[in-house]
Amino acid sequence: MSPKYVYFFGEGKSEGNAKMKNLLGGKGANLAEMTSIGIPVPAGFTITTEVCTSYYKNRKKYPQGMEQEVLKALARVEKVMAMKFGDPVNPLLVSVRSGARKSMPGMMETVLNVGLTSKTITGLVAKTNNPRFVWDAYRRLIMMYSDVVMEKAAGVEPKDEKGIRVQLDEIMDHLKKEKGYKLDTDLKVKDLQYLCEAFKKRIKEVLGKEFPDDHMEQLRGGIAAVFQSWMGKRAISYRRIEGIPDEWGTAVNVQAMVFGNMGDSSATGVAFTRNPATGENWFYGEWLVNAQGEDVVAGIRTPYALNERIKNDQNMHLPSLEKGMPKLYKELNGIRNKLEKHYQNMQDIEFTIQEGRLWMLQTRDGKRTGPAALKMAVDMLKTKLIDPATAVGRVTPSQLDELLHPMMDPEEEKKHKPIAKGLPAGPGGGKGKIVFSADRAEEMAKNGIKVVLVRNETSPEDVHGMHLSQAILTAKGGMTSHAALVARGWGKCCIVGCGDLIIDYANRKMTVKGKEYREGEVITLNGTKGHVYEGDLPLVVIDPTRNPDLKIFLDACDKMARLQVWTNADTPKDAAQARAFGARGIGLTRTEHMFFAPDRIKAMREMIVAETEEARRAAVMKLLPFQKEDFKGILEAMHDLPVTIRTLDPPLHEFLPQEPHLVASLASELGITVEKLEGRIKQLHELNPMLGLRGCRLGIMYPEVTEMQVLAILEAAAELTRKGLKVYPDIMIPLVGHVKELKHQKDIVMKLADEVKKKYGLKKLPFHVGTMIEVPRASLTANEIAEEAEFFSFGTNDLTQMGCGFSRDDAGSFLPGYVAMGIYPKDPFQSLDQSGVGILVEMGVKKGRATRPELKIGICGEHGGDPDSIDFCHRVGLDYVSCSPFRVPIARLAAAQAAIRNGATKSVKAKAKPKAKPKTKAKAKGKRKK
Ligand code: PEP
Ligand code: MG
Repeated sequence: MSPKYVYFFGEGKSEGNAKMKNLLGGKGANLAEMTSIGIPVPAGFTITTEVCTSYYKNRKKYPQGMEQEVLKALARVEKVMAMKFGDPVNPLLVSVRSGARKSMPGMMETVLNVGLTSKTITGLVAKTNNPRFVWDAYRRLIMMYSDVVMEKAAGVEPKDEKGIRVQLDEIMDHLKKEKGYKLDTDLKVKDLQYLCEAFKKRIKEVLGKEFPDDHMEQLRGGIAAVFQSWMGKRAISYRRIEGIPDEWGTAVNVQAMVFGNMGDSSATGVAFTRNPATGENWFYGEWLVNAQGEDVVAGIRTPYALNERIKNDQNMHLPSLEKGMPKLYKELNGIRNKLEKHYQNMQDIEFTIQEGRLWMLQTRDGKRTGPAALKMAVDMLKTKLIDPATAVGRVTPSQLDELLHPMMDPEEEKKHKPIAKGLPAGPGGGKGKIVFSADRAEEMAKNGIKVVLVRNETSPEDVHGMHLSQAILTAKGGMTSHAALVARGWGKCCIVGCGDLIIDYANRKMTVKGKEYREGEVITLNGTKGHVYEGDLPLVVIDPTRNPDLKIFLDACDKMARLQVWTNADTPKDAAQARAFGARGIGLTRTEHMFFAPDRIKAMREMIVAETEEARRAAVMKLLPFQKEDFKGILEAMHDLPVTIRTLDPPLHEFLPQEPHLVASLASELGITVEKLEGRIKQLHELNPMLGLRGCRLGIMYPEVTEMQVLAILEAAAELTRKGLKVYPDIMIPLVGHVKELKHQKDIVMKLADEVKKKYGLKKLPFHVGTMIEVPRASLTANEIAEEAEFFSFGTNDLTQMGCGFSRDDAGSFLPGYVAMGIYPKDPFQSLDQSGVGILVEMGVKKGRATRPELKIGICGEHGGDPDSIDFCHRVGLDYVSCSPFRVPIARLAAAQAAIRNGATKSVKAKAKPKAKPKTKAKAKGKRKK
């Protein structure tokens, strides 16, 4: 049986449903669904995404049988709508729209009013008794069709970059000026007729073809143009940004036209069932009387507010639908409730009122900001519209990240007066140098300059520059304008409809209340309020722990997650911050950073240059009191929770100066000759320090260093224990590749532990000894290493370095190129190379637990905060991930989503006792953190 290519919907019946998004695209699937739940939708049909894929595979030919299916479905539409396509007396007009699996707002083409020809115009005029409406519709068809079908889809490159649409707009503007008209609605029938003729003439001149006067030819052209637009430049660039595969293809929706521009009892609008910027549960949207949908989003007319509550400065004086058409508002509000209940999600809807009758043209899950996503998820959870697992799935890790993003410093903001106000379309703060074009934004941003893109309005052509800007500011447009939708989808700061801006593109400047601002001058935006400020004002991160919704949400996440989230922290302050974000332990404290303070580095250097063990010990022991205080601070901040402290890791030469004058002053400080010091520095020089004397190799060659650190840890723990605090230090030995390395270091720990217990008169001192798994040999022999280790922590920074053979310090010269070429899908230092290094991790887990089933295993490399890597850690049965404090909330969410996605099975090992707790800590930035 040949596949079905066309799916009909209309009059309560549909062949598709909401689950068929892959085949019918989001729009088509939802039109089908709305139809079948009894919502008024004009009849139509959807040509599947498979047709698109096949079209591109077969040199732009449709699969056999598709055209016949279209004709059949069209006949059904005609029947339901009681009109006939191409009929001179009772003509049906249709819209032809794209609709991919995932919404790509404005990236593909639409043609409206298809079917208007010299034959049908007369019939429609007679039928509607509204010649102005008919000629206006024809004018729109010619403008759209010539642009979309005859120019873009035909691959015609406009001369002097002046496309046909611009040329037709010029003809219309010229006429309006000549006649003294302000608005398009001022155009009379005669004017429109004149324009249609002038348009057709210009089209013939410029494109060398007649505007088609045959309804079927128009329909065929429209369908092909939508398929063509899937491979259009801006659709491709949007897909790259959003990670949408080319193979998905778009569906085409052909639907009976209904008109919002048939006079004052007609209208059109777009709305969200809740506020997409804040998440507030208020019906939120915009509409226009006597208009077509494109008028609302194009930013040309100021849209009216849907209801009284959401009116703003720009539309305060304009009528709301609630007041202007109360019965229809009530009906629409009823549909809003029905849709939210049905889809259990905030919907983005489009509607048209044709002569007092309401029609729904679209519903889809609405794009939202991070704060809105969180609020809606929690509100819907509270009202039991959704269950906890659904709520957890409603916020993406990057949306949660937005809550940790900068806002304008409220104190500082009070001291300044905004230069202009607009609509708060995308919350948060953003600042940068003003640029007036997307290309310029791209150019400057690529040179590392932070920019704010300022436009009258944006269009899909601007997406590349919008993406690279810190914030977006437009003079026109409402909350559903292109700029607002796109910025919100990305969580970007955005202000729209800022009417005080007068932009002069040609001279790259704008005037705001008489004052000029040129390209390159800095402005700061408060996208939460819609305020624009002159100059560079400070941005701050608002403490997210004060947000009660976040607490409810993350608590729900923790209930779902199997993986715990720990943190990498080197100071009590970081530890406390991470704890406030919900970290359940420290996975890595890097002790090396503690040696750089001025009062410590001297003893460290003395230790390094010492020639005898005795001298070395004497020097290193000077550090003991400092280290003890460090560890006490961290253990205290994390009392009741495990704290993994790693012994010294980096090569020693990192602690010595290299420049001659610094060497000289150090020599005099240490009381040795410059030559002697230089000799020692030379001795310590390594060609490959990352593979040299570092990690446990240091502690083995200089056991006194390990001794000092272990004493500091255990004495700190003993003193806090005596104070009545419960502390759980875990001592982690880095860079182990052979079990004997670990054994050597562990023996030191065990011996000192006995001494410390005795010294402090303690019967018990809870601690564990474990290791990092960061050398491939450690993974390969994890069964042997687990004989000694009580815990493992995967150091995936080094494991990637040594597993892929990429130097952490030098990979910058080729890795970005590798990623661009698709050799690696992502930078393996940021997102775990699951099919390579991941195998080393998996093997380490299996072999380790084969020896010691209760082995506690975590990860402390950078990957511990990356959602994809966290999903992997869940799948291979780790107990926890450890990441920098500010990534803790994201990791909690990612851990919960991993459990939901993969099944929340408990770890693959026999249940570990919560006591054994390995933890490591890694820095958030940079490939190498020493
Ligand atoms: C690692 O190698 O993954 C790790 C956490 O240690 P560092 O980054 O300090 O080498
Ligand atoms: Mg390491």
